[in-house]
Amino acid sequence: MKYNKQIPLASPNIGDAEIEAVTRVLKSRMLVQGEEVASLERAISKYLDVPHAIAVSNGTATMHLALIALGIGVGDEVIVPAFSYIATANVVELVGAKPVFVDVKLTTNNIDTALIETAITSKTKAIIPVHEFGLCCDINIIMEIAQKYNLHVIEDAACALGATDFGKKTGTFGIFGSFSLHPRKAITSGEGGIVTTLDDKLAERIRILRNHGIQLVNGKMEFVEAGFNYRMTEFQAALVRSQFVDFEEKISKKQVLANIYFQELKDIEGLILPYVPDNKYHTWQSFHIVLNQHFNRDEIISKLKDSGIGSNYGAQCIPNQIYYRNKYNFNSKKQFPIAQTLFEKGLVLPLYETLIPEDIVYICSVLKKAVISCY
Ligand SMILES: *Cc1c(COP(=O)(O)O)cnc(C)c1O
Repeated sequence: MKYNKQIPLASPNIGDAEIEAVTRVLKSRMLVQGEEVASLERAISKYLDVPHAIAVSNGTATMHLALIALGIGVGDEVIVPAFSYIATANVVELVGAKPVFVDVKLTTNNIDTALIETAITSKTKAIIPVHEFGLCCDINIIMEIAQKYNLHVIEDAACALGATDFGKKTGTFGIFGSFSLHPRKAITSGEGGIVTTLDDKLAERIRILRNHGIQLVNGKMEFVEAGFNYRMTEFQAALVRSQFVDFEEKISKKQVLANIYFQELKDIEGLILPYVPDNKYHTWQSFHIVLNQHFNRDEIISKLKDSGIGSNYGAQCIPNQIYYRNKYNFNSKKQFPIAQTLFEKGLVLPLYETLIPEDIVYICSVLKKAVISCY
């Protein structure tokens, strides 16, 4: 089939409304920490029904600030899934603590809760579960474990805004919830992140740390600690606020496209399709499939590329990346076999709301041919 269209892996939907919103802010000359950021924070906190949503410069910064606000640092351990975007573990290293990796499940790509308790030691302070690709992990089980061992939970919901478990939204279970607004996520500010919390004191601490350690004391600006500049700009906030207006509609469009993937791929041998448990609402940040052991995933990626289709691996087996492998001497094949398999055989296909059903059908037909030729 001849299909005269390039289909990149991701493509943020920037329309007239977004361009108008950003232009309006630029014309106002008010570029940082004003009404646009405040309005975005109100909108997200209302949507998630949490008291505090704080906008920062990127998703990684949300987790970095959360760890510092909780006082986690040298000598502490934090449990993280072995399969995620590397930032989930990097933030633990950045505060001087030790990430303790736990393998994930092949079905959901999320942390295997049955393995968490054996990873807990007297030094464990927190768990950072990830809601990978837009699917909420088994968060209720994790909250129970955390309660039993008195651990904090920071949800890495970077790619799971709007995803739910038994109707409850991600980012509202743990002491902190962390969201990314990178262009690969459902809505974007270019770079950006949102940290949510139920705790008033921690929220105040995050706001101080975000802005050079500045606190208003009796109406006067005081520098109360050595903080960061992790602020979001006004035009970034205006961009993502504009994208957020029809957020639910964006997600439902993706549901339709995901269903076409399931329909078109279900009979192809050698592919493991995403699994969505009944109690969870998947928001499809990515459509992530896993190829059988005998396929060379990178060969499939290059065949898709030859037909104008962007694809990639989904996430890293973090302990198998050079920094972690060298520092901790991991043998990922033995210690984190599922994460390693997903890293080697996982494949993310294009899924965003500006694609049309015909695009997905085309992608599937090319993938099918690629798979058959690689058999
Ligand atoms: C995107 C992502 C991050 C990082 O977010 P940035 O905004 O790029 O810093 C962290 N964790 C996960 C799971 C992600 O998908």
